[in-house]
Amino acid sequence: MSPVAAQTSIPLEKSQRLFHEIAEYVAGGESNYVRVKNGLEMCFDRGDGPRFWDVDGNSFIDYSLGYGPLIFGHRPRQVTDAVVEVITTRGVQFTFPYDLERDVARFIVESVPHVDLVRFCTTGTEAVTAAMRLARAYTGRDKIVKFEGHYHGWTDAMFLSCHPSLDKAGPEDHPHTVPGSSGTPRGAADLIVALPWNNPDVLERTLSERGRDIAAVLMEPVMANCGVIAPEPGYHEAVREITRRYGVLLIIDEVKTGFRFGMGGAVQYYGLEPDIVTWAKALGAGYPVAAFGGTREVMALEASNEVMHGGTYNAHTVAMAAAKCTLETMAANPELLKDMWRRGERLRDGLQDAVRDAGHSAVAQGVGPLLGLFFTDGAERITDYRSAARHVDMEKFSEFQGALQDRGHYIHPDPLESFYLSTAHSDQDIEDTIEAARDAARAIR
Ligand code: PLP
Repeated sequence: MSPVAAQTSIPLEKSQRLFHEIAEYVAGGESNYVRVKNGLEMCFDRGDGPRFWDVDGNSFIDYSLGYGPLIFGHRPRQVTDAVVEVITTRGVQFTFPYDLERDVARFIVESVPHVDLVRFCTTGTEAVTAAMRLARAYTGRDKIVKFEGHYHGWTDAMFLSCHPSLDKAGPEDHPHTVPGSSGTPRGAADLIVALPWNNPDVLERTLSERGRDIAAVLMEPVMANCGVIAPEPGYHEAVREITRRYGVLLIIDEVKTGFRFGMGGAVQYYGLEPDIVTWAKALGAGYPVAAFGGTREVMALEASNEVMHGGTYNAHTVAMAAAKCTLETMAANPELLKDMWRRGERLRDGLQDAVRDAGHSAVAQGVGPLLGLFFTDGAERITDYRSAARHVDMEKFSEFQGALQDRGHYIHPDPLESFYLSTAHSDQDIEDTIEAARDAARAIR
């Protein structure tokens, strides 16, 4: 599934000029594939709270938030101060462990059920890579189950069957594993078993046939890289029961949900019992920090160095100062995440009403502050990747995105990206966006 080009009529002359200058030196004008592929040549100037400005001076209420890390919005004063304080008084990088590492690790362990020990890294991709290696080492098995539509990072280890084209993806209940990029070595697909999500029968059948080869089931607790698709009732419990029965570890990838669904993330919200958990994004409120952790028994392999995990910048002072301040702020102000959750639900319901009232077939789906909007061919609910691939009207989403952007509200142009809220978005921001959506929905075909 590829998104169509963004459609907007706001002035973007300076952005376009800058973009083309950047593209003289940076391949494609961007350092992240997702931003390039929608053809939107908008360049960023600055952000403040829930808003950002582009270089032409256009300003937007931001529901993309740098792909989600900006949990307190742009430039939260307390996190900026914590980072400035650490780099000006202590330094940026040591060869030794230090107190902030203890503080952040203790916060995570005390917040997230079933997590006894953690390790830090810099990106979500690294955290998932480490989790996969750890699961393989612990079980002595090579293969990992992942689900179509779930994204866990961009490397050869896991960027497979994320959004495969349906003509390559094979039968629905017996998918082929499809590399997401050219350059992926042939053997990479042999290590990943791609399955449909929200389907316990297929998981049961797969583990009964091949469980002895499978180290772990890797999944997002809420599918949030294919719009947003919630787990069907009982699905999480079924996954845990089936994986336990076959001695398969459960890796819960909380890169999007962690420290967003409350301090205990989706693990606590859904009562999950993972063996390994990964975090990034909200953990650092915009600063590059990620982590993985798990039960003492599994993490013992990290403690003993039997499993190698490294990284020059792991537990960097900027990352730890930002994460510590983020977690302290959340813990001291529990209403911040609760209010954001409520506003997310209001936005989801308001957007759906707004576009349906204008006569479109659409469904807004989400859990709390993670949400998405599907324009559909009449489908009332999207439950997995293939239903998204078959029923979502990409062209209409793109028109709507452009019309909303023209009205000063920014959602990402890819309909498979989730929308994010921050604690800086006010009730009024949400109501303004719903009104703008109503107007935008009327303006498109
Ligand atoms: N896991 C999930 C669920 C993600 O959504 C992402 C990124 O969006 C990643 C892992 C990879 O994280 P990063 O982009 O920090 O490498």
